[in-house]
Amino acid sequence: MLRNTQDILEKINILKNLLLNNNKNNVLTGAGISTESGIPDYRSKGTGLWEKFDPMKYVSVTALMTDPKKFFDFNIPTWTKYVNAQPNIAHKVIAKLEEMGYIQTVITQNIDGLHIKAGSKRVREVHGHLRTCHCMECNRTYPFEEMANQYFAGKNPPHCSYCNGMLRPDVVLFEDPMGKDYLKALEDMEGCELLVVVGSSLQVYPVADLPSFAKKLAIINKEETPWDRYADLVIHESIGEVFRHLADIMQINVN
Ligand SMILES: [Zn+2]
Repeated sequence: MLRNTQDILEKINILKNLLLNNNKNNVLTGAGISTESGIPDYRSKGTGLWEKFDPMKYVSVTALMTDPKKFFDFNIPTWTKYVNAQPNIAHKVIAKLEEMGYIQTVITQNIDGLHIKAGSKRVREVHGHLRTCHCMECNRTYPFEEMANQYFAGKNPPHCSYCNGMLRPDVVLFEDPMGKDYLKALEDMEGCELLVVVGSSLQVYPVADLPSFAKKLAIINKEETPWDRYADLVIHESIGEVFRHLADIMQINVN
C-alpha cells in the first residue's frame, strides 16, 4: 500500500489535472516501468544489472565484435525473457491515455516492446527493440526468433542463412549511434507542453536531456533523479500503484 496515502493521492490528482489541462503531452519511460513485468532494472542501487556487470563488456559493439560468443551467451537468455514478458498496468493505462487523446507520443528507453504490446500506437523506441535482428554483412532483416532459435540450437554466434554474415539485434548497443527513433523523438518534443517521466532515472544521455524541451515536467520514479528540482510534480512511489490510482480517478478500465 502507498506510504503517506493522502499525500500521494493528492499528487496523483495533480497528475490528472496536468494531463487534462495541457495539449501536447508526451511520456518518457525507462526500465522502472517494466520491473513489475518481471524485467530487471539496470541502475537501481543493490539490484541493478549494471551494478553486477560492466555494460561495456557485455552489451557494447566492442563486446559483439571481439567476443561474439560471450556477447550472445550473456544477452540471448535475458532478451528471451524480455520477449516473453507482458505489459503491466502502467503500460496499459498509458496506452489508454493515448487512445483518449491525453498523450501524443510515448518515448521509451526500453527494448522490451511492452508499450506496443499494451496497444500504444505512437512509440519511439530510442534504444531499439527485440522484434527483429539483421545480418551485419547483407543487412537482411529476420525476426528476433531466428537469432534466438539458432543460439538455443547451439549455433553461437547466429548467422545469416543467405550470406553467412553474423546476425545482430536491432537494439542500440553501447558505442552504437542513436537510431532514427531518437530523431523522431526530438521532433515530437517540439512544442511539448507536458512531459511525464515514468521509471527513468534520467541518467543515460542523450535521452536525459529530453526534459529540457518540455514546458512542464512530471516525474514518477522510485528514486530521485537529477531533474526532480526542476519538475512541477515528483512522485517517488511504486509505478504500478500510481497508475492503478490514476486509472481509478480517470475512470479508465484496463484488464
Ligand atoms: Zn546476410
